[in-house]
Amino acid sequence: LLASQSQRESNARAYPRNLPIAVARARGCFVEDVDGNVFVDFLSGAGVVSLGHSHPELVATAKAQLDEFVHGLDLPTEAKDEFVSAQLRMLPAGMRDHMRIQFCGPTGANAVDAAIKLCKTATGRGDVVVFSGAFHGSSTAALSMTGWVGQKERIANPMPGVHFFPYSYCARCPLSLDPDTCATNCVAVLENQLRDTHGGIATPAAVVLELVQGEGGVIPARPEFVTRIRELTRELDIPLVVDEVQTGCGRTGDWFAFERYGIEPDVVVASKALSGVGLPAAVIIYDERLDVWAPGAHSGTFRGNQLAFATGVEAIRIIERDGVLDDVRARGEQVRRRLSGLPARHRHVFDVRGTGLMWGIELADPRTGEPRGDLAREAQRRCLDRGLILETGGRAGAVLRLLPPLVVTEDVLDTALDIVEDALAAVTP
Ligand code: PMP
Repeated sequence: LLASQSQRESNARAYPRNLPIAVARARGCFVEDVDGNVFVDFLSGAGVVSLGHSHPELVATAKAQLDEFVHGLDLPTEAKDEFVSAQLRMLPAGMRDHMRIQFCGPTGANAVDAAIKLCKTATGRGDVVVFSGAFHGSSTAALSMTGWVGQKERIANPMPGVHFFPYSYCARCPLSLDPDTCATNCVAVLENQLRDTHGGIATPAAVVLELVQGEGGVIPARPEFVTRIRELTRELDIPLVVDEVQTGCGRTGDWFAFERYGIEPDVVVASKALSGVGLPAAVIIYDERLDVWAPGAHSGTFRGNQLAFATGVEAIRIIERDGVLDDVRARGEQVRRRLSGLPARHRHVFDVRGTGLMWGIELADPRTGEPRGDLAREAQRRCLDRGLILETGGRAGAVLRLLPPLVVTEDVLDTALDIVEDALAAVTP
């Protein structure tokens, strides 16, 4: 029955292609399918269930809120008030007093759209700068800002005025530049285009950056690349939007990835893990200097989900109480220790990279170095056969992505990494 009903669902879904299971229940880091097989979940609902599936305290919080009311009519509520305070508390001290929050829900793409709309309104400009390999969502605007050409080619007239510039993916620098200067050369290209009055681009409404590209293949930006982009956007008075939909809410071991880079963005986009337990929520947190919106300028029926507000506050409390961010850093080091030798052990492992609990293993042809999605899919299938769910991504889908819940234990992580290593050993390039 499950299979036949699923046939009626649109083919456009991504995950079932490579993960042919039907979920019956999920708890913590584990998912059980309808046949009773148990899997370790290293996908976390695409980085959503940061505290694991159905965290008991979050479930209790959601149930209590459900008993009170669900839709807050977009009016002030206690849950919303507490959520705003908790979100602002996550920001570095210097940012708290001049940032505002806007609910954009339910999805990350909605928040990306809102960030662009805000920056366009505030600057009166029309263009947007983004980076190759970026993923910002599937709405028309967000898709236009996404690097995946194959998807965009199929929609006519996407959002105009989107300019792609090179991202600091030095392992695959198209000009084979020295990695020590490569990342700032990327920004020099952008700077040149922004300053060139005889062939450059118009000053954009925003520069939009993922500090660690997630869907693009788990590529942490080089620090000097980020610093230089921040300097440049300040010099030219261009709002810098960081898309922390995937990196936010503790995934990298800080509340937000921008903290690690030592920059202050003008707009932060967050969604996925905001509620901690998978309830939809999306926000932009932005500098009040950009706050030119008139009352009612950005509304929407599902802009504020009371259940997500309540669990979001509780999730932050639990993360602070249990020292989860320290654990994320420790587990991240565990992954680094276990995986950094992979390229030396396996000819088809091109690169291993990541931070916190967001890691990618890029597979490539050992002879040509070309990314090989077929190898990644084979490794993914072998992992699934051994009880580990993970996703692929990046160019040609050649990157195995490890995105476990932030509460994964040392033992479960070790077991999962054993499975990954065995799968890689069994894959024949
Ligand atoms: N931005 C980034 C960085 C993402 O990773 C995603 C989702 N993978 C989105 C935006 C879009 O979020 P959603 O799928 O909730 O619209």
